[in-house]
Amino acid sequence: RAKKSTTQKVCLYDAGMDEAARARTVLTAELRAALEADQFELHYQVQTSVLTGKITGYEALLRWRHPERGMVLPSEFLPLAEESGLIARLGEWVLRTACNDATTWTPPYRVSVNLSPVQFAYPNLSTLLGDILEQTGLDPARLELELTESTIVADKARALMIVRQIKALGVTIALDDFGTGYSSLDTLRSFPFDRIKLDRSFMQDFEFNPQVKAIVRAVLALGKSLNIPVLAEGIETPGQLLLLGEEGCDHAQGFFLGRPAALRDIVSSGQIIRAIPFGNTVKMDLRH
Ligand code: C2E
Ligand code: MG
Ligand code: MG
Ligand code: MG
Repeated sequence: RAKKSTTQKVCLYDAGMDEAARARTVLTAELRAALEADQFELHYQVQTSVLTGKITGYEALLRWRHPERGMVLPSEFLPLAEESGLIARLGEWVLRTACNDATTWTPPYRVSVNLSPVQFAYPNLSTLLGDILEQTGLDPARLELELTESTIVADKARALMIVRQIKALGVTIALDDFGTGYSSLDTLRSFPFDRIKLDRSFMQDFEFNPQVKAIVRAVLALGKSLNIPVLAEGIETPGQLLLLGEEGCDHAQGFFLGRPAALRDIVSSGQIIRAIPFGNTVKMDLRH
């Protein structure tokens, strides 16, 4: 009896593996087709100055509008896009689209684009960036690339070289998700980051846990002494924003300030002051 149930278990397990492998194959094929079928879109999430409340820019966040499954988030398809190598073309599409969209915003609004480790290892990243900036006409100073430390740790010397090439174009670099994963002070010391993005996990207990508050305060102090502005991610309550203001945090991003939304929705909600497509009518920023 025991043996029978073991056999059964093994069978079920195998069937499960088949299913998972098949699902991955299907998803990879779908991803490839999705690029051709124009099913990817960029959503944008507002970033603001904590002190003035003014919008400083937007982070581009990739979405897949799947014909049956609806809106699919990056965590569900980015790993597969990276494994299958599709991230090269997808990442290029993201960069080109984000730069193009940003040219329609009133300067000095900036656009932040996430780079995956695989993209970062791409041999001609700075050449590609230079081409995209030239073709879209976006002022390089208005493009920020977000890297995480996991992107850098594999080969720090090479990463530093690439970061310098990117910065030579006039593009700025942010350290994303700071405080999680591989965070080390050595990275902060040896890389010329233009901004530190404090991981949103720190906002969860920020208001009510003295230890978390002490850590946030220390990161803000570190930013001040290194002369690198800090952006706090994941602001969900007015209390968090207020406290960040008291602690001297530079920038903020999170659902409380604005959820990621399609470009047209952000425009109609008045979050973006459009300059080009709607003639010269300057739309006032209604929120501040
Ligand atoms: P990230 O770069 O740290 O982006 C912030 C994530 O936090 C986004 O999730 C955003 O929707 C979410 N978020 C923003 N504010 C709040 C908040 O107040 N509360 C909570 N709970 N979440 C908030 P999303 O869009 O699902 O993206 C997840 C990750 O996928 C990103 O993390 C980034 O690492 C990656 N990603 C997104 N778009 C791209 C892309 O175009 N290229 C690459 N390589 N990676 C991307
Ligand atoms: Mg990011
Ligand atoms: Mg982040
Ligand atoms: Mg993240």
